[in-house]
Amino acid sequence: MTKPTHCKGTILLVDDLPENLQLLSELLTQLGYTVRSVTSGRMALKTLAVKQPDLIFLDIQMPEMDGYQVCSAIKADEKLRDIPIIFISALDDTFDKVKAFECGGVDYISKPFHIEEVVARAESQLVIQRQKNALQEEVCKRQEAEALLASVLNSALNGIAALQAVRNLQTGEIEDFRCLVANAIIAEAFNKNTEELITNRLIFKDFINQINADLLPHFIALVESGEPLENDFYYPLGESCWYHFVAVKLGDGFAITIGDITIRKKMELELQQANHELQLLAHLDGLTKIANRRCFDGFLAKEWQRLQRERQPFSLLMLDVDYFKLYNDNYGHLQGDDCLIQMAQTLEKVVSRPADLAARYGGEEFVVILPGTDQTGAVVIAEAIQAALQALAIAHEYSTVSDVVTVSIGIACMIPFPGMTSDDLIKQADDALYSAKQLGRNKFVVAAVQV
Ligand code: GH3
Ligand code: MG
Ligand code: MG
Repeated sequence: MTKPTHCKGTILLVDDLPENLQLLSELLTQLGYTVRSVTSGRMALKTLAVKQPDLIFLDIQMPEMDGYQVCSAIKADEKLRDIPIIFISALDDTFDKVKAFECGGVDYISKPFHIEEVVARAESQLVIQRQKNALQEEVCKRQEAEALLASVLNSALNGIAALQAVRNLQTGEIEDFRCLVANAIIAEAFNKNTEELITNRLIFKDFINQINADLLPHFIALVESGEPLENDFYYPLGESCWYHFVAVKLGDGFAITIGDITIRKKMELELQQANHELQLLAHLDGLTKIANRRCFDGFLAKEWQRLQRERQPFSLLMLDVDYFKLYNDNYGHLQGDDCLIQMAQTLEKVVSRPADLAARYGGEEFVVILPGTDQTGAVVIAEAIQAALQALAIAHEYSTVSDVVTVSIGIACMIPFPGMTSDDLIKQADDALYSAKQLGRNKFVVAAVQV
């Protein structure tokens, strides 16, 4: 017989007759088992306390402590009770065999034994034992994995859940989803505990419809197509109201993570508000609080294009305060500022149609844009501005044209046509303004070239 290269298992032989032990031990060793032999129950228990075999062959009739007692002692010990015990005995009575099984033995071999039988029975017990161990290991691994999963789920800052599609038996179409896994955070969002969620009850559809009736078809599409789904949603619950979710296909369902983004969303909204206010500020003149040059440029470009498409007239008034340097020099710069502020407010009152815009062009110059207004309308506005300034009556005793602050106005009107730009309109208004100054100030001049 050739000696196997690896150990097939360790076996403890317990028999009070050394010759029995020797024979069996030699045979089993030759077959590749690691064998230890002891001649009494007491020695067996002693050696078991040190090292545990995979299998025990136990004689029944022994002095001092018989096999049944040894077996009972082993089975009473939590650390040893899983070691399979095969009785080997000359007793061949049914009563003895039954007793052997009752006290925990797994098999029974009568003496004199055939070595093939002993080996076959030993091998089958070792196989069972190995399978039991493998199963136990598997159970442990699963328990560890489950514990790990549970700790990940419960320590996550996001809500995590896995949902399985519930399909119509006839049509195969998805009708709802069943929750397979859910952590505490997601359960909170459902206003339930995790145990309540992970049941066969179908609550997903009802829940999702509360948030947004359009969402369910998207989840169904995700399962059918495999395309991930990601979105924000509003769902007020306690302190929180904004959430972000990412859902990815998982089996015939999907896994979803939901994060509370209420703080981020609030910050975004505040930022938007601040940006909006900044935008407004960016378009206002710091001193007079009417539209500034930047706003004028944007408005003009937009309206120019629109009126070019619509073939509508466009009027532009360019205003310049008369003898303002003298005003400043004599009344002081601060009073000059105040004068500009009052004039701007007066201008805004006169130019009050929503389509129109009054802006500070720079220094002591203002502009008025009148979209859709022809020359007659523009002249009416120019006269109204001059009349309003007359009524405002800011004293200017150093002006040679009036007792009060006045303006000169250049008016340009045209229907924008291809090839002309808004710069042409500005140039015409500017030239007309120059003419008004030349003609003595406190008047308006309409630009000569009109289309
Ligand atoms: P004209 O009738 O020919 O327009 O004479 P003018 O004195 O008004 O023209 P000029 O361009 O010589 O002077 C404009 C003055 O406007 C000079 C400048 O100090 C003053 N000015 C421009 N911007 C401001 C401002 O924001 N505040 C004040 N207080 N003065 C300003
Ligand atoms: Mg000027
Ligand atoms: Mg001036």
